[in-house]
Amino acid sequence: MKRYRLAVIPGDGIGQEVIPAGLEVLQAVAARDGGFMLETETLDWGSDYYRQHGVMMPADGLERLRNFDAIYFGSVGDPAIPDHVTLWGLRLAICQSFDQYANVRPARLLPGIEGPLRKGKLDCVIVRENSEGEYAGQGGRSHRGLPEEVATEVSIFTRRGVERIMRFAFELAMTRRRHLTVVTKSNAQRHGMVMWDEIAREVAGDYPDVKLRFELVDAMTTTFVLKPETIDVVVATNLHADILSDLASALSGSMGIGPTANLDPEGRFPSMFEPIHGSAFDIMGKGIANPLGSFWTASMLLEHLGEQAAAQTLMRAIEEVTASAGPKTPDLGGQAGTADVTEAVLAAVAAG
Ligand code: NAD
Ligand code: MN
Repeated sequence: MKRYRLAVIPGDGIGQEVIPAGLEVLQAVAARDGGFMLETETLDWGSDYYRQHGVMMPADGLERLRNFDAIYFGSVGDPAIPDHVTLWGLRLAICQSFDQYANVRPARLLPGIEGPLRKGKLDCVIVRENSEGEYAGQGGRSHRGLPEEVATEVSIFTRRGVERIMRFAFELAMTRRRHLTVVTKSNAQRHGMVMWDEIAREVAGDYPDVKLRFELVDAMTTTFVLKPETIDVVVATNLHADILSDLASALSGSMGIGPTANLDPEGRFPSMFEPIHGSAFDIMGKGIANPLGSFWTASMLLEHLGEQAAAQTLMRAIEEVTASAGPKTPDLGGQAGTADVTEAVLAAVAAG
């Protein structure tokens, strides 16, 4: 039997609630499939670890993660620690060190869920450049606290970085409706963004079957709201896609639904799978976090491992629960808790 080794980092806030639920569901799907086993190791890294040790993860953390087949991640972020410390100390440290350059975020209105849109069908995948751009970490601060203080936050775009994310997005578009929207801000940002557009056109030469559309990021927000049915695959920079994918997740009904894969498409390093949401300070500890995003994420993880049948079993179970009159968490207008939704999905897996 195949065995996969899975590193599990629930992290902070509701990550501590939805990831254990997701693990339960993952193990149930594996047992039902019967063709593979998941060996998991849960790591207690995050803000509590920081309070004890002064770092978000141990010095050999990346080395330890390297040998896993995949990473299942919750969220980082704590009310008492600055966000840039927690984010750079754990999540970005992993994404960047493992060159997980393709961040893939599907958004779709699941059956039975009424999104905020009055019309138009949403079924898209946002491909976010995940290794450079606005989150490259370049910049600095001088003359701290003085009137002369200056801060720079430099966006980095490399030909190699842009070309590989374009190729990834075109390949993905080929497996879907063959429509790719390249999002930039090349009217105002005339260097990096203009290079994006140029490289997109060059790579498009290798994909004559993909219909290409260019859209500015501000206009793209209105397209998401007013004409979502025209969107298939979207490729955008780290910052732009970060913002657009939160919008897309909200349009699909809740921030608690969207999944994410941080992929190293070349397979040199383990890839990392996480729900799109953060720690959700306003609801953490209450047992009402929507676990569907962590379940959908688990389905993406199974797909990445090559367990397509199991991935489909899980997705079908999720959709059966959303389509039914079954439990819904408060973000979806219901009164159920995380555990109720988890029970329902487990039952659908068992019956499926
Ligand atoms: P957030 O995603 O935590 O919350 C935004 C809103 O969506 C909140 O009202 C929250 O209650 C709701 N929400 C999110 N997930 C939900 C779920 N599963 N079920 C029901 N409702 C849900 O975003 P934020 O408030 O901007 O950030 C809070 C903290 O999380 C910050 O520290 C931030 O840095 C961090 N964060 C981390 C990640 C990550 O680890 N990948 C992503 C985003 C934010
Ligand atoms: Mn985000």
